Amino acid sequence: MSGILVVQEAGRNRISFEALAAGRRLSELTGLPVETAAVGDPNAAVFVEPSGQPPAVAYAVKHPLLEKYTSDGYVLAFEQLIRKLEPSYIVFPHTYQSRDYVPRLATRFGQVLLSDIVAMEAGPTFVRQVFQGKMTGTYRPLSGGPCFVSIQAGAFPADQPVAGTTTILPFEPQIDAAQIRTTPGAPFRGSSQTVDLGSAQRIVSVGRGIKEAENLPLVQALATALGAEIAASRPICDNGWLPMERQVGSSGQTVAPKLYVAVGISGAIQHLVGIKGSQCIVAINKDPDAPIFEVADYGIVGDLFEVVPALTAAVKAAKA
Ligand SMILES: Cc1cc2nc3c(=O)[nH]c(=O)nc-3n(C[C@H](O)[C@H](O)[C@H](O)COP(=O)(O)OP(=O)(O)OC[C@H]3O[C@@H](n4cnc5c(N)ncnc54)[C@H](O)[C@@H]3O)c2cc1C
Repeated sequence: MSGILVVQEAGRNRISFEALAAGRRLSELTGLPVETAAVGDPNAAVFVEPSGQPPAVAYAVKHPLLEKYTSDGYVLAFEQLIRKLEPSYIVFPHTYQSRDYVPRLATRFGQVLLSDIVAMEAGPTFVRQVFQGKMTGTYRPLSGGPCFVSIQAGAFPADQPVAGTTTILPFEPQIDAAQIRTTPGAPFRGSSQTVDLGSAQRIVSVGRGIKEAENLPLVQALATALGAEIAASRPICDNGWLPMERQVGSSGQTVAPKLYVAVGISGAIQHLVGIKGSQCIVAINKDPDAPIFEVADYGIVGDLFEVVPALTAAVKAAKA
C-alpha cells in the first residue's frame, strides 16, 4: 500500500480538479504521493493539474468497452488498476457516475465508500454532512484496506488549471464483452437540454418570493445580465415553473459557483446544503430574519420586484 490515487472524470473537469486538490490535501496529511487516473484520451484536459506541483504520473485507462460508461466496465477497469497500484486512498469526485459504480468497486475490496466528503483532518479523518446538513460526521478508516472517498463539489476549491509535466502511462484493463451486462443509454447530463449547475461560475436562483411563473423573466433578465445560469428552490421546480434539473439543494444539484444570488429564497436547510460551496452568496429577501441572511456574504432586505430590476439595470450600466 502506498500512495493516493485520484480518479478523475473526463467531461467533469472542474470537480475533477477539485478531487485533485483533495488528493493534495490528503497528501499533506499522510505524506503519501498523489497519482491520477481517468478513462479516456491521455491528452484530455482532465489530466492537467489545477495548482501546485502536478502529479508525477497519470494513468490513461483505455479499452474499447469503456468508450461508453457502464458500471460493469468501470468496476472491472478500476479494480484491476487498484490491484496493480495498491494505493492506500482512492479519491473520486462525487458525481452521478461515481455514485453509480464506486460503492460496488469498494465492495470488491471489502470496503465502503465514504461519500460526499467536505473536509479532511489529521488522522486522516474524513468529514461529511449528515441529516440534511444539520450535523457533521467524522470518519476514520480502521481497516487496513484501501480507503475509498468521494468529495463534494466546492469543498476543495481548485484554481485555474496550469499545464504540468505529468507522465501519462496507458493502462489497458482486461474486459470481456460478456462481462458488460447493461446497454448504456444517453448520459444523464449529456443532452443539450440538460444543465450542469455544478460547473456554473455564476448562478441566479429564484424562490417562492417570485409568486407567479409569469414573474420569472424578471429574474432571468438579471441572470442574463450577469452571464449566469438560472436555478431555483424546490417549490419552483415542483410547480413546473422551471425544469427539475435547475433545482438546487439536498434533492437537487449541489453547486459551487463564484457568485450565487438567492432571490426570494428563505434559506431552508435543504436548500442551504446545496449552496455551501458557493464563494459569494448574495441574498435578496424582504424578511430581515430570513435564514438565508445567516449564510449570505451580502444581503439586500427589500422587495425583489424593486431590487431585481434595479440590480439588472446597474449590471447592464456597469458593462456598457
Ligand atoms: C426531503 C426534502 C427535500 C427537500 N429538498 C429541497 C431542495 O433540494 N431544494 C430546496 O430548495 N428545497 C428543498 N426542500 C424544501 C425546503 O424545505 C423548503 O420548503 C424550500 O427550500 C423553500 O423554498 P423557498 O425558499 O423558495 O420558499 P419559502 O420558504 O416560501 O420562502 C420564500 C421567501 O421569499 C421571501 N419573499 C416573499 N416575497 C418576497 C418579495 N416580494 N421580495 C423579496 N422576498 C420575498 C419570503 O420572505 C421568504 O423568505 C426539501 C424538503 C424536504 C422535506
